[in-house]
Amino acid sequence: MPELRQNRITKEWVIVATERAKRPKDLVLSRPVKTPPSFVPSCPFCTGNEANTPPEVLRVSGQNDGEWLVRVIPNKFAALVPTVQPKRTVERSKRTITGFGFHEVIVESPDHSATTALLSDAQVCNILKVFKARYEQLSLDSRVANITIFKNHGVEAGTSLEHSHCQLIATPVISSQVRNRLHEALRHYDEFGECIFCSVIQDEMEEKTRVVLETDHFVVIEPFASGTPFNTYIYPKKHSASFGDIGAVEITDLSRVLRTILAKLYHGLQDPDYNYTIRSAPAEYAGVKYYHWYLSIIPRLSRVAGFELGSGMFINTVLPEAAAEFLREVQVEARATTAASVAK
Ligand SMILES: [Zn+2]
Ligand SMILES: [Zn+2]
Repeated sequence: MPELRQNRITKEWVIVATERAKRPKDLVLSRPVKTPPSFVPSCPFCTGNEANTPPEVLRVSGQNDGEWLVRVIPNKFAALVPTVQPKRTVERSKRTITGFGFHEVIVESPDHSATTALLSDAQVCNILKVFKARYEQLSLDSRVANITIFKNHGVEAGTSLEHSHCQLIATPVISSQVRNRLHEALRHYDEFGECIFCSVIQDEMEEKTRVVLETDHFVVIEPFASGTPFNTYIYPKKHSASFGDIGAVEITDLSRVLRTILAKLYHGLQDPDYNYTIRSAPAEYAGVKYYHWYLSIIPRLSRVAGFELGSGMFINTVLPEAAAEFLREVQVEARATTAASVAK
């Protein structure tokens, strides 16, 4: 029988269509895994082409002179720009704000052929440290209301450039989606006196069926009401509302966890396109007891179609429990020792 399951945080319902359920291995892609060359002369993110990007915001340097491991640059085709002030106008039914914001690109490696799933843990750590540094820096700007850090991997996930990179967009407003999550989490806190995320994490760790892996500081689960196949959450075990509050030991642990999960998806499903995003409370809500940040990975294995657009409900053909079992069984090698260099 099909089953409707409710996301306890967003209150959204998803249909887990067990009648048309697919075994996880039915979703393994049959296309060949692409390995691009390590240098592409026309790629602005490749070593030697640094002058073809806007001036760098931040870099993690390597051991050799002039060598870099991670670069942050403003997006050449920015959705929002920091050169205007956020000016609000309300004219009858029309509301606008001038397009203030920051739109940055985090180039994950000088190597064009690199893919996050196959990087060393140390290099993923460099990337996460850069996320935190930019998050902290931009949070100090009083005009910034919210910062979204995300990655688009592959055409289905919306990327236009092959060279591995992530992005960050800082906006002068908080979206209604983020507000609703905060409100629902606050409502739960008011009613039950607990962080709903902490409560879900505890339940999942006791039940274990949807847990993919667990470390000292993080637990990885396939959420009970996953809207899409292999949607994966990485939760910090310790309560924390803002990604900006992550500590050094946790960043090291998270790099290993993130890289391991991406490698499990890469090897298990043949390099699926995916997005990931860090769902943090906006900086002004850092420290609240009711919200809990996490990282959400969404492999793009199914298409959003008319029903999803019309109803706001998703139909998932893969049981989260089956996805978790599948991912637990994908063996991936440890890569901690292949580190080229670690950021200071
Ligand atoms: Zn490149
Ligand atoms: Zn919590």
